[in-house]
Amino acid sequence: MGGSLFVVSGPSGSGKSTILAMVRKNISGLGYSISHTTRKPRGTEADGKEYYFVTREVFEEMLRKGLFLETADNYGCLYGTSRSSVERQLERGLDIVMDVDHRGAFGIRERYGAARLIYLLPPSLDALRDRLLKRGSDSPEAVKKRLSMALDEMANCFSYDYIVINNDLEAATTDLASIILSERCRLDKKSPLVRELFPGLAIDDSKKTKS
Ligand code: ADP
Ligand code: 5GP
Repeated sequence: MGGSLFVVSGPSGSGKSTILAMVRKNISGLGYSISHTTRKPRGTEADGKEYYFVTREVFEEMLRKGLFLETADNYGCLYGTSRSSVERQLERGLDIVMDVDHRGAFGIRERYGAARLIYLLPPSLDALRDRLLKRGSDSPEAVKKRLSMALDEMANCFSYDYIVINNDLEAATTDLASIILSERCRLDKKSPLVRELFPGLAIDDSKKTKS
């Protein structure tokens, strides 16, 4: 059976990169979809780690060749999920987490009905502003632009499967990890292992609980 897809969205500064890095460290067998972007690297970001940083020309060429599952234009920069990297990891049975905006998330859900969509919220707009300013990677104008879009962006949370509020970092990381781990215990994920462990088990479909 292939892996599961976990799509994490949230306004810029809600803590997606921070929490995903912690969850990836703590959960084994979890792949990550590294997006391509035309944005410049921030701080310690490295090519091939957080993103593949490419020029607009390279991005547009990839787009023409149909190499993206989905793309978005955010704050004037292009972002895209590479089709081959997601499909390869899923086929290997890896679960994948991805950090994409709501348009990307809904596109992924259309294509992969079983994808789980998780929305990360800050505890308040003030906290979001403080975190964006503290991160120091965006100019005050860029922070203002990101904040002015945050409320509209956050309204999309009602279409997601799960909400995680990132007040305390440890607690939010535990919430996200719990969502991923509980998905791994679903009947459809576990029953091949159960059959392997107990080959003599009779299968009585009438006793199956509804999923
Ligand atoms: P995103 O990837 O969603 O844009 P980041 O992960 O870059 O957000 O987080 C934005 C800033 O907020 C970073 O400086 C990060 O260290 C900080 N941050 C993240 N979560 C918390 C938290 N729970 N409490 C305080 N600061 C946080
Ligand atoms: P940032 O520049 O802060 O890393 O990301 C800006 C926005 O782009 C965030 O909302 C992030 O989720 C989104 N994003 C990052 N990669 C992708 C992608 O491949 N596809 C889509 N649709 N959005 C992305």
